[in-house]
Amino acid sequence: MLKSLNISPFEKKIWLASPTMHGEELEYMREAFETNWMSTVGPNIDAVEKEFTKYIGRKYAVALSSGTSAIHLAIKLAEVKPGDKVFCSDLTFDATANPIKYEGGEAVFIDTEYDTWNMDPKALEKAFEIYPQVKVVVLAHLYGTPAKMDEIKSICKQHDAIIVEDAAESLGAKYKGVETGNLGKFSIISFNGNKIITGSTGGMFLTDDLKAANKVRKWSTQAREDAPWYQHEELGYNYRMSNLIAGVVRGQFPYLKEHIEQKKNIYMRYKEGLKDLPISMNPYDEVNSEPNFWLSCLIVDKDYMCKQVRSDKEALYKSEPGKSCPTEIFEVLKEYNAESRPIWKPMHLQPFYRMNPFITRAGNGRANTNAYIAGETEDNGLDIYHRGLCLPSDNKMTPKDQDIIIELIKNCFV
Ligand SMILES: *Cc1c(COP(=O)(O)O)cnc(C)c1O
Repeated sequence: MLKSLNISPFEKKIWLASPTMHGEELEYMREAFETNWMSTVGPNIDAVEKEFTKYIGRKYAVALSSGTSAIHLAIKLAEVKPGDKVFCSDLTFDATANPIKYEGGEAVFIDTEYDTWNMDPKALEKAFEIYPQVKVVVLAHLYGTPAKMDEIKSICKQHDAIIVEDAAESLGAKYKGVETGNLGKFSIISFNGNKIITGSTGGMFLTDDLKAANKVRKWSTQAREDAPWYQHEELGYNYRMSNLIAGVVRGQFPYLKEHIEQKKNIYMRYKEGLKDLPISMNPYDEVNSEPNFWLSCLIVDKDYMCKQVRSDKEALYKSEPGKSCPTEIFEVLKEYNAESRPIWKPMHLQPFYRMNPFITRAGNGRANTNAYIAGETEDNGLDIYHRGLCLPSDNKMTPKDQDIIIELIKNCFV
């Protein structure tokens, strides 16, 4: 419950995560303009592809128009055909799952574990028991925190399934010293405006398979054959990155480390500032992984949740002394001109995907989701969604701004 506070709203909005520009971006864009490389070929594209293969440690990179288009072409490479089931992270942005549908496949959503908020290896194992024919697993690293890759890789190997790695949010995060983007047969990253570095838009496909890389190059440029005229033997797409956008990415790339450092400081500051509250931060494997800390999130302890309900488009809560909930914190921060956001609403709860299977450790996760009571369900994703919130995590937020946000959150629990 919020006491009245002697705090005035932020004059300048505090964003969840907004682009942080440095200046070199403009130089590379200007160069593209002045040399007339204003298309989907040019030196900026060549340079970013080279830089990313080297940084992530992969043999091939193809710069594309978005992370979503990169996932789409990865799904095509994985030969997902109409009617094929594909295992997919459940607690993620819908761009992880939609490309499965573009190809006519059916996403089978796999529940989430509490240690990293990513795909639960135990639920994945269960899913292979139920659907042993599945050959493709699409896996995201949520909010820049690497998933339990050893377990997931070993399960996939046992079942001869390949991993399409959605590292859209996790550029620069490492698992056992290996960069995310180097943990799937086909991997992707995103340069969307709110990611850790941005091109304003854009994505990248990564692999060690030359044939696959060449196919992505071809498909993304309308599948032109090597002929003097436009000759087409396959379905093509207009998915290539623009040389102008590549200039923005190229100018941002040297600042990736700095951005991660800033994001980590933000996370640690929240962790310290909120340590006396009945909440925890989004967790990660401190021994085996190094997140990029793209978004700092909190989850309210079960016993300290005030009543909260969400319909398809609205939320209500009932204020209670000593307790709070994501909706209350969200609304208070909004009132003070700071942007937070509920945890990604799990895919299995999206009306669009209501008919798709959802597998938890116990098996069919569709069995008891209607009777949800915090802490009394097998549905971990729903529980994290119910109790969790992404906090303002913008690089440009000052420690002073952040202290105010921490104060506001504390006051929700008074
Ligand atoms: C941002 C994002 C994408 C999509 O990337 P775009 O470049 O916006 O198409 C895919 N998956 C996840 C998990 C994302 O956060």
